Amino acid sequence: MTRKVLYPGSFDPLTNGHVDILRKALGLADTVIVAIGIQASKTPTFSFEERVAMIAEVARDAFGADDAARIEVLSFDGLVVEAAVRAGAPVLVRGLRDGTDLDYEMQMCGMNQEMMPQVQTIFLPASPGVRHITATLVRQVARMGGDVSPFVPAHVAARLVERLGR
Ligand code: ADP
Repeated sequence: MTRKVLYPGSFDPLTNGHVDILRKALGLADTVIVAIGIQASKTPTFSFEERVAMIAEVARDAFGADDAARIEVLSFDGLVVEAAVRAGAPVLVRGLRDGTDLDYEMQMCGMNQEMMPQVQTIFLPASPGVRHITATLVRQVARMGGDVSPFVPAHVAARLVERLGR
């Protein structure tokens, strides 16, 4: 049996924090499915296709072609647990940066558990060098003309400047 995990989020855009969790997830599973949540009421900075392209480029650079081939990307617009069952991935991966993440994630995990007991959540701790990074703040820094290169892979930094920079 191949071990498949689903890593859900908005990835708008992919940050060094996401790359850190992806690297850890690749060490635990055969296939990591990055599930990009699409909310009809929200306009993302990058389209689904753009986010998929950035994830593919960054994965090849960061992990090499063989490991990058073990990452799949899909979109979902409903419940994460339903997306996991549809994708045949019985495990959800979530990254933990701090206590705030933990409190929120425990609530979400508890409700997901009740809705879909066959799907388990595993929490992976952020590495110290990336635990301060959030995609929301990265977008704000880019909008204000700040340097985002410490927070996101080079491919992503270039696209952020193009999209949001002054
Ligand atoms: P963000 O919270 O940065 O907007 P997402 O909603 O796309 O990003 O997050 C998807 C998942 O990635 C969540 O489990 C989140 O906790 C995790 N994550 C995001 N940034 C980091 C980080 N810097 N370190 C570890 N995990 C992270």
